[in-house]
Amino acid sequence: MSQASNEQPIRAEACWPAHEARVDTLASVCALLNRVVEDLPHKAVAPLCDLSNVRAAVAAFDFDAPTEPLTVVRRVVELLEGGMVHTMHPGYFGLFNPTATFPGIVADLITAHLNPQLSVWSHAPIPVEIERRVIAEIAALFGWPANGTTGHFTSGGAEANHTALLLALTDAAPGFAEAGTGAFSGAPRIYASADSHLAWLKIAHAVGIGRDALRLIGTDGRGRLNPEQLRAAIESDLALGHRPVFIAATAGTTNAGMIDPIGACVAIARNHRLWMHVDAAWGGAVAVLPKGQTTLVGIDAADSITVDAHKWLSVPMGAGMLLCRHPDPLGDTFNVAASYMPASLDSIDPYTHSMQWSRRFIGLKLFLSLACMGWVGYRTLVQHSLDMAAELRSRLTASGWNVVNDSPLAVLCFTDSTRVLDLAAVAAHVVSDGRAWISTARFEGRTVLRACITSHRTATLHLERLVRALDDARQKVAP
Ligand SMILES: *Cc1c(COP(=O)(O)O)cnc(C)c1O
Repeated sequence: MSQASNEQPIRAEACWPAHEARVDTLASVCALLNRVVEDLPHKAVAPLCDLSNVRAAVAAFDFDAPTEPLTVVRRVVELLEGGMVHTMHPGYFGLFNPTATFPGIVADLITAHLNPQLSVWSHAPIPVEIERRVIAEIAALFGWPANGTTGHFTSGGAEANHTALLLALTDAAPGFAEAGTGAFSGAPRIYASADSHLAWLKIAHAVGIGRDALRLIGTDGRGRLNPEQLRAAIESDLALGHRPVFIAATAGTTNAGMIDPIGACVAIARNHRLWMHVDAAWGGAVAVLPKGQTTLVGIDAADSITVDAHKWLSVPMGAGMLLCRHPDPLGDTFNVAASYMPASLDSIDPYTHSMQWSRRFIGLKLFLSLACMGWVGYRTLVQHSLDMAAELRSRLTASGWNVVNDSPLAVLCFTDSTRVLDLAAVAAHVVSDGRAWISTARFEGRTVLRACITSHRTATLHLERLVRALDDARQKVAP
């Protein structure tokens, strides 16, 4: 028998093993993964790995001959355990990457198994309607009416922000969809604070207005956009013959969790007829709490909002949302009719109202989390992060650290209260020690240590470990 015909059945089998083998393999994989996640708190948050070892380990997988799936899976998971920053670890105080909810994880398993295609309604009516329901519920959190509100799931916040800017440009100049920026009499200008998420730079490039179109407005000494400077920048652009189009207020800055004065931005946007967007990628989750209305005051007047489900709402990556207050802009911006796409007459086909064409069932992760945990579960999750942040603040202060931001959300920026320290070295010591993961950021002109509560599994014990790791690092770094 030739080698090829020998290999044939093995290949086919790994692609789609027999029913019993699939069930057994899935059970083993789930058991393995749950053991790994369970053990994480006793392991280093960020294992040390060396580039050449990483490359060699990856190169060692043999694609020339099939290997039994569980053998490959065990090896991959073992490599992952020692080869990534563990965002599922309760000692990860990092960049908004959450410990995923269990229903969210199950949702991705379902999506991968059934692989629905959400580009047109008729291909996946239940998935499309499930996403529509979740989008409407999230929009209602921000005080938006059920009627007229539109939106969809995105890969993340950057795609949602990109979408919002396209809506604004299409709305501002009727010919923009066809002619691009040539449809504008003056060069389009957009505004966000210096502490906004700098995906705006890439987005400005991608939509064709160029990075220079982004005006970064100064902050007020507390990390929030300064509305006086915003007004002045718009007036000066108008005087130069430019065309102001879009304001993005950030609700929950990445460095310090600060919330721009949304109401003041809305007033300026209305006065100059600009599109008002709120980038609430991380901070939007606070709207699940009754006091969220106060924290995000003014957000109901926005034209569009970005919220990431894969940040504080804690579903696995990638899951963002773009919400639009008006019924027409999404269709005006994204409508195309392709002869080979089945048309749905009574309902909106997602591919005609969003950037993506083929669409994964992103929304199931949030739907399943909501259906299993209820709003009460989300209120508990968000409130827990706020409680942990408040506790961390007092522990840091008691240990001689000086918290310099006053965010209503769950992120702390701090420095040493007595000495000038190399804070990047402090953060590096904490990370290499393995007990916790933190980083540095710039806040109001200085470098700070930054600790964000991102895991719903973070408890007092992990705060104690973080503060101890910081205190030890300070000893090592102190001049
Ligand atoms: C994370 C974040 C983004 C980018 O979102 P991705 O999901 O990473 O694409 C944009 N804006 C803010 C305020 C963010 O926190």
